Amino acid sequence: MIYDHILVRYGEITLKTKNRKMFIRALRENMKRALSDFNVQIHTQWDRAYVTLQDEDHTAVMAALENINGILSVSPIAKIERTEAAMKETAVHFADTFGTEDTFKIEVRRTDKTYHLNTSDIQRMLGGYVLENVPHLGVDVKKPDHQIMVEVRAEAIYMYHEVIQCIGGLPIGTGGKALLMISGGIDSPVAGLEVMKKGVELEAVHFHSPPYTSPQATEKVKQLVDILSRRTGTDIKLHIVPFTELQTTVHDWIPDNMSMTTTRRLMLIIAERLAEKINAKAIVNGENLGQVASQTLTSMHAINAVTNFPVLRPLLTLEKNEIVEMAKKFGTYETSVLPYEDCCTIFKPKAPKTRPEVGKVEKFESKVDFEPMIEKALANIECYSALEAEKNEAFDSLL
Ligand code: ATP
Ligand code: MG
Repeated sequence: MIYDHILVRYGEITLKTKNRKMFIRALRENMKRALSDFNVQIHTQWDRAYVTLQDEDHTAVMAALENINGILSVSPIAKIERTEAAMKETAVHFADTFGTEDTFKIEVRRTDKTYHLNTSDIQRMLGGYVLENVPHLGVDVKKPDHQIMVEVRAEAIYMYHEVIQCIGGLPIGTGGKALLMISGGIDSPVAGLEVMKKGVELEAVHFHSPPYTSPQATEKVKQLVDILSRRTGTDIKLHIVPFTELQTTVHDWIPDNMSMTTTRRLMLIIAERLAEKINAKAIVNGENLGQVASQTLTSMHAINAVTNFPVLRPLLTLEKNEIVEMAKKFGTYETSVLPYEDCCTIFKPKAPKTRPEVGKVEKFESKVDFEPMIEKALANIECYSALEAEKNEAFDSLL
C-alpha cells in the first residue's frame, strides 16, 4: 500500500475563531521542526493539515507527529486513481487488516459532484465487494469497528481507515511560559507535560544539595528534562540551584516538624525570583492533594504564602495510579523510579506537621536571615539544556 499523505486533525485549535491563524502558524512551525529530518511538505488549512510524504515511510513520519501538541489525530491516506477497480482493491487491502469478526462501514465524501457514481452507489459497491472478498466481516452502519473513508475529489480519490489518536491540546509556544519545579520523582515530569498540552512553553528548576544528594540524582533530573524535551520537540532549559546551605540551615534552626514547610517555602521564593527573571508567568509543580504531609491544603496554604505567583498543580486531584500510568505512557516512569535520593528525602523530618500554621512557621523563620543565602543560591545557578548537551557531545566526538 502506497500512502502518500498524512491527514492531520487539529486539537483545540478548532475552538478558536478570531486568532486561529496564529495557532495554525505555531503548529506549522512545530511540525516543521519535528519533521526536519524528513523530505516532506506541510500544507496547513483552516480546519486540517496535510503532510505530503514524497516517498518517506509513513509510519516514521506519523510517529514524529504523534507527540506534537495541538494535533488531535492523524491518518495515513492513499491517493488512488478515480476508478472503481482502484477503490475496490484499496478497500479490500484495508479490510484484510481487520479482525475476523469485526464490523465495518464505508463512509463517502464526494467533493466532486460530477463523478459518475454517487455516494450510495460507492457505498453499496465497496461494501458488497469487501463482504464477498474478506470472509467473516460484517457491516454495521451505527457502531462499526472500522470505517473505510473514501473522498472523491476532482484530481484523485483519497482513501484511509486508520485514525491514530495524538495528544490534542494547543501548539507549544501559544500559551506563554511557565517554570516547572522538577524533582527526580514520578509526579513533576508528568505535571510538566500536562501544562505543555495547553501550549505552555517550559523552563525547569531543580534544587540539589551536594554532597548530601549524589551527582546521579542530578543526572537523573537532566535525563528527565531530556525526555520532556525530546517528547515535545522543544529545548527545555534546566536551572540547577545549589540548595545545601539553605537546607542545612533549615535543619539547624527550624524545628524538625516544620522544616519541610520552610524548605518548600524557600524553594518557592527562589522559583518565583527565577520565574520573574526568565519572564515565566506561572510556576508548575507535581503536588497532589493529600499525598504527603507537605501536600495537605493547610501545608499548601503555608507554603504558598511566600508568593503571589500563580502556582499550577495539574495533578492535584488525580489518583496515584493514574499518574503512574501517565508517566509510563510519557516514557518518564523508568527514569523516575531510579533509586537516587532527592534532597527532600534525605532531610525528611521524622514527623512533619500536616497542618503547619503560617504564623508559627514565620516566627521560627524570623530567627534566621535567609536572604543572603537565597541570593547566593540564585547567583550560582547552573544551566543545562538538552540541545546544548547534544551539540557538545557531537563536538566531542569530532575531537
Ligand atoms: P515528585 O514525584 O514530583 O517528586 P512527590 O509526590 O514526591 O512529587 P514531593 O517530593 O513532596 O512530592 O514534592 C512536591 C513537588 O515539589 C514536586 O512535584 C516538585 O514539583 C517539587 N519539588 C520537590 N522537590 C524538588 C526539588 N528538589 N527540586 C525542584 N522541585 C522539587
Ligand atoms: Mg519527590
